[in-house]
Amino acid sequence: MTIHGLHDKLIHREITAVELTEAYLAHKDKVEPKVQAFLSDQRETALQQAAAVDAKLSAGQEISMMAGIPGAIKDNICEKGQQSSCASHILESFRAPYDATVIERLLQQDYISLGKTNMDEFAMGSSTENSAFHPTYNPWNVAHVPGGSSGGSAAAVAAGECVWSLGSDTGGSIRQPASYCGVVGLKPTYGLVSRYGLIAYASSLDQIGPITQDVMDCAIVLNAIAGHDEKDSTSICQEEKDYTKALIRDVKGLKIGVPQEFFGDGLDATCRQALEEAIKTYQSLGAEIVSVSMPHLKYGLAAYYIIAPAEASSNLARYDGVGFGMRVPGKNIVEMYEKTRTAGFGPEVQRRILLGTYVLSSGYYDAYYLRAMKVRTLVKQDYDKALKQCDVLLTPTAPDVAFLVGEHVNDPLAMYLADVCTVTLNLAGLPGMSIPCGYKNGLPIGMQLIGRALGEETLLRVAYAFEQERTDVQQQAPVGEVTLS
Ligand code: GLN
Repeated sequence: MTIHGLHDKLIHREITAVELTEAYLAHKDKVEPKVQAFLSDQRETALQQAAAVDAKLSAGQEISMMAGIPGAIKDNICEKGQQSSCASHILESFRAPYDATVIERLLQQDYISLGKTNMDEFAMGSSTENSAFHPTYNPWNVAHVPGGSSGGSAAAVAAGECVWSLGSDTGGSIRQPASYCGVVGLKPTYGLVSRYGLIAYASSLDQIGPITQDVMDCAIVLNAIAGHDEKDSTSICQEEKDYTKALIRDVKGLKIGVPQEFFGDGLDATCRQALEEAIKTYQSLGAEIVSVSMPHLKYGLAAYYIIAPAEASSNLARYDGVGFGMRVPGKNIVEMYEKTRTAGFGPEVQRRILLGTYVLSSGYYDAYYLRAMKVRTLVKQDYDKALKQCDVLLTPTAPDVAFLVGEHVNDPLAMYLADVCTVTLNLAGLPGMSIPCGYKNGLPIGMQLIGRALGEETLLRVAYAFEQERTDVQQQAPVGEVTLS
């Protein structure tokens, strides 16, 4: 069920917000033991928020699109008084003292959250297996991962445990799990959505974005969260838009670029076939398909895995046992730091901090960090050139469907390769979204659409046209049926 569908039911009084929330909570109780998408439960607050929406409706007041519709928030986004652990032991006991700007904006819409969702620790990972608490499982087949790092947010929507969720994307963490879970995920243009209150991983790459059942819902959530915020110095100042207005079923005359580099040997054959069919669909709808080449993209993944850890090593220096979070006592302050950080951070986070510290250290800075930043510029120039020729680009979201739980845990490089199609967008600051485009062995395949900076409207329009045309790829995850009595 979708936000727009349920909003209609609410305003026509076919169901109350409390009944709706209860139905979702009951379904969540049923499937959560299998999926394990959540880290915390906010049912009491959720039911209070729902009752407040019902009171507005009873009083004849208008309600916003998202009012009363159950959602979920990734555990690295601060919600006042709630746990914001980033799925890390170091922040296990941390309760956010303030609301992130996205939460403040959602509060104005009378949003409802059923809880905080699981993720890879500090958003570092591609499978949600790096959570310090438990993995999340793919609702299509629980032997597989849901992707990551926003795996909890994607799995919760796919399993029908909530209608929408927020994730964060530094190198693909919204799009790749959306692809693995067969839902819609959007990483907005860098600066479109405020990062204030998003616990930082790599600040020059991080963005918050929606994960939803369909493209219309994606536009609705984007409307709620996008906009200038003076509390984020990288926030873009522009007039707010109604993204749902962009959803017209027409791509005639639009140029869709297909970068050859994304369709090389590493791409699975069934995924390739699904994408080729998607390209044909767009052709039949009157779009012009243009082949483009982006020669520097092959260095993108390597550059990302230098830049992101470098920024992380600096951002995570604040977890020292003094200001907040875990503290393990030591004989002196240095020992306290060491013990706290050794006990508090999991192995992948420690690996990133070490990598990041190394590439920034004197003698190595020029060879690694500086060179990676030069590659970043080249990658951006490749995108600029391709997007001058085309309105959007079409690529796979990931080289294959969801892998097995445990398959890559001992091979960080294989895990990093799951991001090969998504990381370069973050380096360039561009918007990208993943929508379902087919299935392989019962698991969803994702298609990535990439837009120009602040080109979300065109991006959503192109995604919408495909979704409306290809109703064959819209299916609910097997565990995802909610019954509204
Ligand atoms: N998987 C990538 C990483 O581990 C991207 C994560 C993200 O986007 N937060 O860095």
